Amino acid sequence: MRIWLSKPHMSGTEQAYIAQAFESNFIAPLGPQLNAFEDCVATYLGGDVGCVGLSSGSAALHLALRLAGVEAGDDVWVCSMTFAGGVFPVLYQNARPVFIDLSADSWTICVETLEAHLKAANDTNTLPKALVPTDLYGQSVEMEPIERLCAQYGVKLIVDSAESLGARDASGRACGTGGDAAILSFNGNKIITTGGGGMLVSRDHEMLEEARKLSTQARDPAPHYEHSTYGYNYRLGNVPAAIGLGQMEVLDERVTARRAVFDRYVGAFAGQAGVTFMPEPDGAYSSHWLTAVSFDPNACGRSREDIRQMLMEHKIEARPLWKPMHMQPVFEGTLYYGQGVDEGLFETGLCLPSGSDMTVTEQGEVIDRIAEFLKAA
Ligand SMILES: *Cc1c(COP(=O)(O)O)cnc(C)c1O
Repeated sequence: MRIWLSKPHMSGTEQAYIAQAFESNFIAPLGPQLNAFEDCVATYLGGDVGCVGLSSGSAALHLALRLAGVEAGDDVWVCSMTFAGGVFPVLYQNARPVFIDLSADSWTICVETLEAHLKAANDTNTLPKALVPTDLYGQSVEMEPIERLCAQYGVKLIVDSAESLGARDASGRACGTGGDAAILSFNGNKIITTGGGGMLVSRDHEMLEEARKLSTQARDPAPHYEHSTYGYNYRLGNVPAAIGLGQMEVLDERVTARRAVFDRYVGAFAGQAGVTFMPEPDGAYSSHWLTAVSFDPNACGRSREDIRQMLMEHKIEARPLWKPMHMQPVFEGTLYYGQGVDEGLFETGLCLPSGSDMTVTEQGEVIDRIAEFLKAA
């Protein structure tokens, strides 16, 4: 591949932070760089939140679910169009995921569907224990009505902000600060990376203390190893956290760069019939982690797959939008509430190369290839 979908983009300061970690010899899942990284992200997000650095975003979600009281047999409602790592942890708790559709207006979880089904579930005493909406492709969910519904029905709200660090909604709230807890991911293809890692974010500092304990094998305070519950080896290492410190220095730049990538795509295909970009709500500041676009073959003459394959032949990586979880073999027979907006978007939707280090020339090539291909249709 010559032009990648999204690849790690170092600031250049990471190695100095790594050197500090080596000097202090904290080559362990604890240490000053890890503490500093947690403080740095908490300060960035604002709003009195605290952060616990973990080995992955999925680990963060697992801990959030367990600490929300999700147990065997409970229902957890999740956005169907998402990455598997945002759903599998429900299974780790032996709970049952129920999948919710997107709204065609926002391409994030559909509030009307949620509202109708929460009301019905309340009437039949089948309310979920928790709801996990996803800030898809760097765009905030409609937090205000979702928080209101969760409060009304006593449902815990865990926001999957793995793709949206650096974004804000129209009220100015930073993604990663909503609900009872939120999770972040620092995997290699995310907006910033630690080479693998994640974070649990919450205003509930007691819950975070418990998460810290569970993430380090649930050790009770004692000179020997004492355990009154079971835990996990989920803590983030001090060395990856050092990479994170270097990455946090450029987070806002990375968001600006990805937004510029998105704007250039939108500008290039403005007025092109059948080409629709993920709509950004008025006043919102999405990170546009990935540029998501839908190609309606009836209107633009080419299917998403035609376009993806054409790009691949030119060594340009593009990916279909997340295949909805209710369509995945592993979740066959699982409950789904919706109208198939997500199914339609999976059929027509493509993520275009969106890296913060992609040059204007490289992006121009992507744009030209697609434009020529559509013209020739
Ligand atoms: C990346 C991602 C995760 C999982 O994060 P990992 O750090 O890879 O475990 C969860 N949810 C969504 C929506 C993601 O994009």
